[in-house]
Amino acid sequence: MAGRSGSVSAYNVTMATGTLDDRGIIVPCAHCGRQNRFAYEHLDHAVRCAACKTPLAAPADPIEVDSSAHFDALVAHSSLPVVVDYWAPWCGPCRMVAPEIQKLAARQAGRWLVVKVNTEALSDLGERFGIRSIPTLAVFGEGRELARTSGARPASEIEKFVESATQALHR
Ligand SMILES: [Zn+2]
Repeated sequence: MAGRSGSVSAYNVTMATGTLDDRGIIVPCAHCGRQNRFAYEHLDHAVRCAACKTPLAAPADPIEVDSSAHFDALVAHSSLPVVVDYWAPWCGPCRMVAPEIQKLAARQAGRWLVVKVNTEALSDLGERFGIRSIPTLAVFGEGRELARTSGARPASEIEKFVESATQALHR
């Protein structure tokens, strides 16, 4: 792995390819545009578009969490480990870690789900989980938080952190 990169272009990407609801991740079919749902319980299964039957790719970009209710549904039911990036728009180190989070989501698509929580927009979540500094990265699996760490770091180190956090899971 090339390791850290200062790529500026990679960093504009905050456009989410999926959105969350109570039951799963809604993603548009790349072929026909139909919105499909990946159910949280079956995120580790291949899914085909309900309309055109094209296989849907697992989310390869971080998904921005839009409500604490959706966050709770996701971490309670996700069949994949969930990597959470707690960030805020005013936080410089968060901007540094954003492209690394993006790389993580792309490399580990279908294996881990990577989401972002804007602690300014969802301050109730930040408070409930006691997020004192950002960026904070947390890993959830089997309905509970497994580990967390704070500070910016390259994708390769984040991968090591998540690998070790998920080792104890029963799958
Ligand atoms: Zn389709």
